[in-house]
Amino acid sequence: MIIGAGIGGITTAAFLAKNGYRVRVYEKNPAPGGRCGQINREGHRFDVGATMFMMPGIYREVFRSLGIDPEKILSLKPLDDLYKIYFDNGDTLTFSADKIKMKEQLEKIEPGSFKRSQSYVSKGYKMFLLSMEKMIGRNFYNLFQLVNLKNIPLLFKLKVFIPHYKYARRFFKNPHLLMAFTFQNIYVGQSPFNSPALFSMVPAAELTEGSFFPAGGMYAVVEALLAEAEKSGVSFYFDSPVTRICVNGNRIEKIVLNSNEEITADIFVANADLPYVYRELLPDRRASARLDRLSYSCSAICFHWGLDKRYPQLEHHNVFLSDGFRTGLDRIFREKSVSDTPSFYVHAPARSDPSAAPLKNDTLSIAVAVGHIDKKFRQDWDAIRIKTRAAVIKRLRQQGLDDIENHIKFEICHTPGDWELACNISRGSVFGSIGHNIFQMAWFRPHNRHDRYHNLYFTGGSTHPGNGIPNVLLSAKLVSERILSGR
Ligand SMILES: Cc1cc2nc3c(=O)[nH]c(=O)nc-3n(C[C@H](O)[C@H](O)[C@H](O)COP(=O)(O)OP(=O)(O)OC[C@H]3O[C@@H](n4cnc5c(N)ncnc54)[C@H](O)[C@@H]3O)c2cc1C
Repeated sequence: MIIGAGIGGITTAAFLAKNGYRVRVYEKNPAPGGRCGQINREGHRFDVGATMFMMPGIYREVFRSLGIDPEKILSLKPLDDLYKIYFDNGDTLTFSADKIKMKEQLEKIEPGSFKRSQSYVSKGYKMFLLSMEKMIGRNFYNLFQLVNLKNIPLLFKLKVFIPHYKYARRFFKNPHLLMAFTFQNIYVGQSPFNSPALFSMVPAAELTEGSFFPAGGMYAVVEALLAEAEKSGVSFYFDSPVTRICVNGNRIEKIVLNSNEEITADIFVANADLPYVYRELLPDRRASARLDRLSYSCSAICFHWGLDKRYPQLEHHNVFLSDGFRTGLDRIFREKSVSDTPSFYVHAPARSDPSAAPLKNDTLSIAVAVGHIDKKFRQDWDAIRIKTRAAVIKRLRQQGLDDIENHIKFEICHTPGDWELACNISRGSVFGSIGHNIFQMAWFRPHNRHDRYHNLYFTGGSTHPGNGIPNVLLSAKLVSERILSGR
């Protein structure tokens, strides 16, 4: 029995059903996908959260363990470029797996930087492969599998003791290049100034493995996995929020739905955000209070716009990086707010997939990283939303989209509170929710099997290995291996 039909829940369901389990999935919302959901309105199609198909090797590995070929089941289009980065002084940098293109651009910004970027990328990609083998792509059954004398050199190799930004300064001097090669930390909801250099593996994996876009958007991944799970016999129940998990001694006995229906099972898997499950569904207050003291990822305000005009100035993926990078990040992570001139990301999928918008119209999704909900701070989310929207429009105007505000037919906005409400994400910390510092990774991350209730397992971004669809797919594979082996 699985609580939640996000990527983690659906994939775990498919694994278990293929291995002979009778699986039922209860989802609070009317549709699957969670943070990888979709909105369709007036012919405009929006990916609600995830928009980038990163680390295709992990998709391949997990899909193949399910007995499916991602290349066959998803219509994957390789993108020529990863994303275009726009700086405040008007300079741009197109991040591309094409080395000639990268060389031309980097050398103009900082002579000699191309060679150093190659070294940064190859070192980062080695860290990615090593961490996949030793840390991210495996289960941990006890502390000593991570903390032992043999692993000390590993931790140095994985650069867990040096902050990402400081490490990047060994390779780049130009502040724009430093931003361009470190901002990707935001994908896991953290600042490059106080997260380990291990995360240089993210831009490295992007530049090494390239970028793809599934026809139909990222929701095509949800649909493909859902079809596979249903084909293997999984039953999905939507509009079925779980309100309580009932325990008996050291075991979970049943769950209760908001209709008061009680569901019994031998094994329970929670895909819903792990701290939320401990806090709202399980009885132990102390365990929940411990989780509350952990560090949480940042949140995001997203604007989805249906436009009656298309703007050729934008590429498929666009990243606007503002000067005052550190101050902007401090506003998010220290002040739990957002900068007056925030960095942001624009998804404009109709360039690669015309079905995302009506002809000559455009579908844009804007994501701005902001602080998570924190009662210790005075956070007026309405005011923050209005301020952020104005700053985004101002920056887009500077980029030549002068009349954009007049062409927005409709807008859908998600603030941290909306994320919390829609998917039960603690504090609206959508990139985790639990943060990814070294003391909250691998064995130290909340475990994918409950320490006391041994028939309760966890899958998804807030357990091992972490957030982002590739990690969540791995989390489903790892927890399924755990259930199948009984460990
Ligand atoms: C703005 C944004 C941009 C992102 N961009 C990317 C990207 O480009 N690439 C990428 O790889 N990743 C990206 N991500 C991250 C990615 O979307 C998530 O890591 C992933 O979707 C999380 O999946 P999950 O299964 O862990 O959790 P969720 O998607 O949160 O699924 C959990 C499910 O449980 C359900 N649930 C909760 N409580 C209950 C209950 N009581 N009863 C029943 N059901 C319940 C929820 O409704 C939800 O459907 C992004 C996320 C956001 C928010």
